[in-house]
Amino acid sequence: MVMTPSRNCPLCGGSTTQKKYADAQLPVWQCVCGAVFLSPFPSAEELKAIYRDTYYETWGLTADNENAPRQMKLLTFSARLKKISRFLKTGKVLDVGCATGYFLEAAKAAGWEPYGVELSEYSSRLAQQKFGARIFNGTLEEAHFADETFDLITMSDLLEHVRDIDAFMHEAVRILKPSGLLMIVTPNVASLSCRMMGAKWSHYKAEHLHYFSPVTIKALLKKSGMPPLLIEPSPKYLNLAYIINQFQTYQHPIFTPLATGADRLFPRSIKQANFPVSCGELLVLARKP
Ligand SMILES: [Zn+2]
Repeated sequence: MVMTPSRNCPLCGGSTTQKKYADAQLPVWQCVCGAVFLSPFPSAEELKAIYRDTYYETWGLTADNENAPRQMKLLTFSARLKKISRFLKTGKVLDVGCATGYFLEAAKAAGWEPYGVELSEYSSRLAQQKFGARIFNGTLEEAHFADETFDLITMSDLLEHVRDIDAFMHEAVRILKPSGLLMIVTPNVASLSCRMMGAKWSHYKAEHLHYFSPVTIKALLKKSGMPPLLIEPSPKYLNLAYIINQFQTYQHPIFTPLATGADRLFPRSIKQANFPVSCGELLVLARKP
């Protein structure tokens, strides 16, 4: 067994790290500063295999079935916009990792001017059908936005996928206007669900390279010169149909058979009713000085 990771801590640069779980399939390391990360990262080929078009099927986001999770996503994103509106009402918003553009739809409806960046060609094409050239297909760095362009930058379920967190945060802060807001939603490695599930936590995935907690996200924001305004649990609106689909895709010894049972037991109307669920994620709002 490898006893030291192949890289220093991405947050504090230290080398005092240890394996978080002795028996985990993924190489999850934890630094004394609290940072949790994979080391080594999966290879470029492995990641490419993960992010093929079928990646989005686990969201129920196949092209012919886009309506099923739509209501669920719009409810979640409207709740996030409501939080943001306590600090800022409208302006230019950039959603990094915008997928097919659900957040931007909700933002546009709330009066924001929507822009998006999406790495996946498949989902950026769907977003472009709604927002045209305002959707950039590629990485944030490749988009080369001008300094101080946006009033709000949002990243939902994105930061954990980013390879070089420092460079990424630097770029985000550069293109944010002074007094602009940053919203991050990411798995919370200090959440109850993580502590209960251990190495089997549903957010531990090969493509999730970094894992944050309220403590480490605060440290990252401090390092990026972005004082946090708010750090709190972030619920998602879900329905049973979605949860069943997740556990049938990501096999779990207990929950997968339960999900299959629930699928047979409940009628469609119950399976598609939306309700807020705490999924072990945290929501952060920070403001550029
Ligand atoms: Zn560290």
